[in-house]
Amino acid sequence: MQDNKVYRAHVLVLPYPGQGHINPMLQFSKRLASKGLKVTFAITLFISKSFNVPQLSESVQIETISDGCDEGGFAEAESVHAYLKNMEASGSKTLAEIITKHRSSSNPIGCIVYDPFLYWALDVGKKFGLVGAPFFTQPCAVNYVYYLVHRGLLKLPLMETPVSIPGLPLLELQDMPSFIYVQEQYPAYFEMLLNQFSNSDKADFALVNTFYNLEPEVVDSMSKFFPLILTIGPTIPSFYLDNREENDKDYGLNLYKLDTSICTNWLNTKPERSVVYVSFGSLTCLSNEQMKEIAWGLKQSNFYFLWAIRASEESKLPEQFVEEIGDEGLLVKWSPQLEVLSNKALGCFFSHGGWNSTIEAMSLEVPMVVMPKWTDQPMNAKFVEDIWKVGIRVRVDEEDGVVKREEIENCIREVMEGERGREIRNNSKKWRDLAIESVNEGGTTDKNIDEFVSELMN
Ligand code: UDP
Repeated sequence: MQDNKVYRAHVLVLPYPGQGHINPMLQFSKRLASKGLKVTFAITLFISKSFNVPQLSESVQIETISDGCDEGGFAEAESVHAYLKNMEASGSKTLAEIITKHRSSSNPIGCIVYDPFLYWALDVGKKFGLVGAPFFTQPCAVNYVYYLVHRGLLKLPLMETPVSIPGLPLLELQDMPSFIYVQEQYPAYFEMLLNQFSNSDKADFALVNTFYNLEPEVVDSMSKFFPLILTIGPTIPSFYLDNREENDKDYGLNLYKLDTSICTNWLNTKPERSVVYVSFGSLTCLSNEQMKEIAWGLKQSNFYFLWAIRASEESKLPEQFVEEIGDEGLLVKWSPQLEVLSNKALGCFFSHGGWNSTIEAMSLEVPMVVMPKWTDQPMNAKFVEDIWKVGIRVRVDEEDGVVKREEIENCIREVMEGERGREIRNNSKKWRDLAIESVNEGGTTDKNIDEFVSELMN
């Protein structure tokens, strides 16, 4: 579509093709558009062919690149390593084609905001003289740890615990990102996370989906080494925070089929603060044993629960469970998570501690029970429990590594009705207020976005 409108600048935004990366980067794109910028949001051909991709607005246009797996996406690749290599080769080429195509238009692309999981995008952008900004979808604390490892300032394997890093609380092994303490768990992913910083000295800014008050010491500490950081979160639709943008209630691009009205109709029949919402995000796969413990732990806790279970996990539910829960529980494949979290019936979010889920719960004042599995989740859980004090982390049985049903039941009870739950609810309120303050006019996030936009004008 020919767009002759004159914009303040044109930004190309490139997320890693996963739900937890698309959501915050798309939301950030909408913010840029609201400040008078044009955004080209690049998704993979596979996503564009396989899912319902809506027309967002005139200012945010979707275009496609290739990840080298146009027919089957990630599932088509032989391994994580193979996928990342395919994506680098085909992605670099097709990204360059998008930039070239717009060069002769009335709005040439002047900046690339890219997911640093795809660090090579910066090299492509720089070849065309673009401003480059990695967009970190994980919190600053986690990025800082990877940065220190990448620079050789934190040596692995860790010989002594707790680990002391200026700007971070003392960390036991299980409080670090999982790749630091489970050696060789997913070497290709770990390499990708360290590579985020392989060319970042050429970047002009680093955007992080967090807000300053959430991690002030970490942001300040990391900024001493890496002076480009702008905290621009929480990137959740405006309706739930500042309500400054019209019609901004959804992220807008779901890689799963939504069960919206089923969830809201069911929640609307439940009393205030009576429901536990359960979701482990878009990627986490649990063992059959762990699913069984969660199912019976929920049942035993005797609260209502709404559980979003992806189709690929459903077969792991124990026999008889679905028959036994009756109206006490609702199982859906994918929920409208923000709508669910903001429903008055919600009392607690039992989550995997994925960063989007965590910052969404904090922004919507929902206390958490966290069962981290891997990557940044253990570190997020440490902050949820000990620093922000907005939830409880479940303890894993040391013998078999499974979180038992009694533990799940006890943690849910504690958050829903215990003394600690009261304290957690008070803290949750405080963090929601601070999240709103940061995105409101003049807040740290708002100012940082303005700074970013005005630098693009120079
Ligand atoms: N989400 C959703 N419905 C669901 C489960 C998750 O809309 O049933 C969204 C959620 O709001 C979040 C994203 O999917 O924005 C998951 O990101 P997160 O970082 O929490 O976890 P990941 O999927 O990356 O492990």
